[in-house]
Amino acid sequence: MFLETKDKPECFGCDACAQICAKQAISMKEDAEGFRYPVIDESLCINCGMCKNVCPFEHMPEKHEKDKYVFGGYHLNPETRFESTSGGAFSAVVDAFCDENYVVFGAEAKGLVVSHGYITDKCDLGRFRKSKYSQSVIGSSYKDARKFLLEGKKVLFSGTPCQIAGLLSFVGNIKRENLLTVEVICEGVPSPLYVRKLDQHIQKKYGEPIESIDYRFTGKSFLSHGKWDFEGMKIILANNKKVMIKDRWFNPFWSVWLNHLMSRLSCYHCKFTTTGRTADITLGDLWGVHLYCPELYGNNGGSSLVVCNTEKGKRIFQKAQINMFGHELKFEDALKYQGPMRKTISENSERAAFMADLESNMDYQAINKKWAKKPTIKLLFQKYVWGNRQKIFMWNLKRKIMKKEVNKHA
Ligand SMILES: Cc1cc2nc3c(=O)[nH]c(=O)nc-3n(C[C@H](O)[C@H](O)[C@H](O)COP(=O)(O)OP(=O)(O)OC[C@H]3O[C@@H](n4cnc5c(N)ncnc54)[C@H](O)[C@@H]3O)c2cc1C
Repeated sequence: MFLETKDKPECFGCDACAQICAKQAISMKEDAEGFRYPVIDESLCINCGMCKNVCPFEHMPEKHEKDKYVFGGYHLNPETRFESTSGGAFSAVVDAFCDENYVVFGAEAKGLVVSHGYITDKCDLGRFRKSKYSQSVIGSSYKDARKFLLEGKKVLFSGTPCQIAGLLSFVGNIKRENLLTVEVICEGVPSPLYVRKLDQHIQKKYGEPIESIDYRFTGKSFLSHGKWDFEGMKIILANNKKVMIKDRWFNPFWSVWLNHLMSRLSCYHCKFTTTGRTADITLGDLWGVHLYCPELYGNNGGSSLVVCNTEKGKRIFQKAQINMFGHELKFEDALKYQGPMRKTISENSERAAFMADLESNMDYQAINKKWAKKPTIKLLFQKYVWGNRQKIFMWNLKRKIMKKEVNKHA
């Protein structure tokens, strides 16, 4: 049975209830759409109420609304930056926080499965870099984090905002001074069924399953523009041979997902798409960079938006900043281009019909033919022709202005 009277839109799938249950009466099970929900084994449940107490949907941890420090920029090490999704701010924060006796939690992918894990050596950080567009399985991470805090270790926990809220509910006030929470800006998680259909398609076409997916590949190739904001996708097959890359406008995954056809139901009722945040630090893409701070666009490797929500977050990020190129931004400017910090996505009225197709025998190609939108000529012109010219014009203009300013103060 799904956690008593709860409706699906009221469950973020954060796992906190399953982990707090002393009787192991709750397990997380996939529904037909591929999203995980808590299921109670009535024979083990003793009605202690712990699962309800820890649920962040019912008891939202404190949100930090005021006195933010907002930064835009990218990691000074080009390798780190290209290995990251946005501008590599996550790596800079990890470096600043983790001196000794530390543990870092994050999401990693093994094949198509995304789950949370931890590392005790920063050299292994590559496991957590890059956004995996699937809700990660928290597993025993909250319990592990609490154990490490009780042992006196410094814990950096990263994840989506609902996962951070689940963690904060779970650990309560235990050794909070040693805990740094880092969330990614999130506008929802897509159904894993879609990527499984993609895998079936790949296997049929190439005879090999998918080994890994880089959803935000920034390398250049025949099919990819090699730009962070063009969101190329690189798929590596099990035989390590076939690699396919497409810019975002031609990739049906982005079209279907960003049309809000296949997000988890709770994402349409998300309580975290506000300026008040529960995490110490919020990380995202510096969308709008070419419009309001083009000097931070750099050479296509990506740019990060960093919002420090607490004093602890600010203190750590001040240290992290030595590894970043960039500067302070106005929160209002950043907000204009960050929908998920202002409003919740709306459920597409055709979601149920789309999900029915996804759950049926319809294959990947048929689904995309029916549901994915092709880019219009106007869009392609804007992105590949006009957009570039406009960007180059804006960079040059800003650079000239900045140079003049620097010379004036020299
Ligand atoms: C599902 C999802 C949706 C997102 N939506 C937006 C958005 O709408 N707007 C925006 O500006 N940014 C969004 N982001 C955040 C953005 O893509 C980058 O993750 C973020 O800017 C950090 O990039 P980075 O270069 O600093 O570091 P990276 O090294 O790329 O950081 C990786 C970080 O992301 C975490 N992470 C990766 N995959 C997952 C996952 N599946 N679940 C939980 N945590 C994960 C890792 O634990 C690590 O903390 C989203 C990320 C995810 C995972």
